[in-house]
Amino acid sequence: MRTYIMADLEGIAGMASWDRPEMSPNDGFLREEFLELRRRRYLQLTREVNAAVEGCLAAGAGEVVVWDSHGRGFNILPEELNPECTLITGEYQRGRSFYPLLDEGWDVALYIGGHARAGTLGASLPHTIMILNGRPMGEVGMFAAVCGYLGIPMVYISGDEAVVREVRELIPQVGFTVTKWALHATLVRTLPCRKAVELIRRDSEEAVRRRDKIPPLKFQGPYEVVYDAGGRGERMVGDDLFKLYAMDVLNRVGYRYGPTPPLERDVRFKDERYIEHLKRTAGSEHLEGI
Ligand SMILES: [Zn+2]
Repeated sequence: MRTYIMADLEGIAGMASWDRPEMSPNDGFLREEFLELRRRRYLQLTREVNAAVEGCLAAGAGEVVVWDSHGRGFNILPEELNPECTLITGEYQRGRSFYPLLDEGWDVALYIGGHARAGTLGASLPHTIMILNGRPMGEVGMFAAVCGYLGIPMVYISGDEAVVREVRELIPQVGFTVTKWALHATLVRTLPCRKAVELIRRDSEEAVRRRDKIPPLKFQGPYEVVYDAGGRGERMVGDDLFKLYAMDVLNRVGYRYGPTPPLERDVRFKDERYIEHLKRTAGSEHLEGI
């Protein structure tokens, strides 16, 4: 069994805000404190990923690969990672798939550290929203849909209660671990880090064992993705959801680093449905663009 683990950061236990060094909370926030905090987050992410790797192996996985997808892609600490998996790490580049190595050849997918889509009330650090064939989707749902398009079931999600709720609406049978509950966008009631790791280890194994009962998330083609483009909606349509989202759409939004220059935008219009949806779910605009 070949297992693909997608790792983000915002859904890990203990994390409530981005705490950027340029922000200065009331009591002051030193750069050294920020670096220390970030290192602890990376360690917790690595421990949560390790727990999922162990769960997969216990459930019979022969090959486990982990994609360190958050930000610049240097979050997971390779020196602390379970020796029985491999890690994809480095900078995403335009023109390439946002899910490196992902193709029809994988049997099962898991998602660690997920967060709810932009505009979700009662969610920890919600951001990113797409509308796929008329349905609002976040980062986790889009990953599940791309996996489903390739025939791969996404069987497990860990993150805050809001992202788990969001994913269960799409895949009722999905396995999950709730790591924390949002009191508002940047305040959480969290499990202690060790407890989250313990539950992820248990729940990921259970989910992978149950993989035959968890269907791949399928949408009917052709696919239409309406996405944020600096506050207005742009739309792309195609028959190949993998290429449409993992390459074309993600090449147009967000990921602006790397040596490849930005693609020329050839779609220039406002999609009112996107603007309307953002208006209806307003509440986390201050998190846009993160
Ligand atoms: Zn992230």
